Amino acid sequence: MGIENSKSNINNVDNRPEWVPENGGDEFTTYVMPGLDPESVNAPKVKLAKRKKLSIDDYYNGIINKDITVLSKAITLIESNAPEHILSAQEVLKKILPHTGKAVRIGISGPPGAGKSTTIEALGCYLCKQGLRVAVLAIDPSSTLTKGSILGDKTRMELLSREKNAYIRPSPSAGTLGGVARKTRETILACEAAGYDVILIETIGVGQSEITVRSMVDFFLLILIPGSGDELQGIKKGVVEISDMIAINKADGENIQYANRTKVQYKQALSMLQDATPGWGTKVMTFSALDPKNLGVSSIWTEINNFMEIVKNNGIFYKRRQEQTINWVFSMVEEEIKSRFYNTPAIATIIPDIKQEVLSGDMTPTTAVNKLLSIYYK
Ligand code: GDP
Repeated sequence: MGIENSKSNINNVDNRPEWVPENGGDEFTTYVMPGLDPESVNAPKVKLAKRKKLSIDDYYNGIINKDITVLSKAITLIESNAPEHILSAQEVLKKILPHTGKAVRIGISGPPGAGKSTTIEALGCYLCKQGLRVAVLAIDPSSTLTKGSILGDKTRMELLSREKNAYIRPSPSAGTLGGVARKTRETILACEAAGYDVILIETIGVGQSEITVRSMVDFFLLILIPGSGDELQGIKKGVVEISDMIAINKADGENIQYANRTKVQYKQALSMLQDATPGWGTKVMTFSALDPKNLGVSSIWTEINNFMEIVKNNGIFYKRRQEQTINWVFSMVEEEIKSRFYNTPAIATIIPDIKQEVLSGDMTPTTAVNKLLSIYYK
């Protein structure tokens, strides 16, 4: 049907709504379609249950009893920025705190396309088969900008999402890295109280996200692909230093030799660096996340177990967890002060002028700082 034809059809209909102006032209193309008589529709009448607001005890009991729906609601509460939700979330967290801390917390990073999701899926399924319960979280502070999160489109982890002992939660998508990190830390606690044995936290190399993930996990796994160690594959400087294991993925088919060469290069590079965890020499291995026998992910898991045994024996595990908790407190203080400072209207208004004066040389940076602080404390 041509456009002209369809226009004339629209003009001819006599069931145009009453609110179309008398001389309304073709632009008023809406006309009313008769709806279905509700009685004639053969669908069961669903009476919408009024949504019950959960009490702190409901959250507590649900989480402790491994109720996934309640866990998800608790995480939504944790992720909310509404002041009343923040308060309730803190009450829930305080109650569950004695049940937290027992999981192995593992950070996983690597450049896009290295195979993080594929590895997490393979490792997650492997662990579920061993009878373990696995939670997968993500830190992706870029998701606010790109409107999509790394775990948002997790059709990528279809197999794992079908495992009843796996729980996958996309990255909280609001705010600064500090804000996202707080939510993820608290989500870790909720998952631990809900009995997850292994928490996998994925991140991509955005800003400081790897450092942030390192600050909340026991073991940090960096996934790379075969390629020159010198270029560091787009990995930010410093990420190799914080890793407990570098796993070179896609060591399959024609890639195997190439992967082995990459392994040697990273081993050499690491020999000049300090280990990320005292008492544990950072491991470098090759593997294939697509190996149907799961040989790669099973050796990764064996190494993680060896690691946990060593760090529990030498006390580093407990020391690190304590430091992480204390650092968490102070990073939240810094975050809060920073946000209050920049959100003060007088500061926000004067910043462009101050920038201008500093750039034109009329004001020294130190004077600028003093001026801003004096305005803030006024
Ligand atoms: P991510 O961006 O790091 O999460 O990477 P993905 O897990 O989405 O994987 C990126 C691509 O690499 C996908 O097409 C995977 O199928 C492929 N891939 C992942 N692991 C392997 C592997 O071990 N061998 C091969 N040949 N391809 C892989």
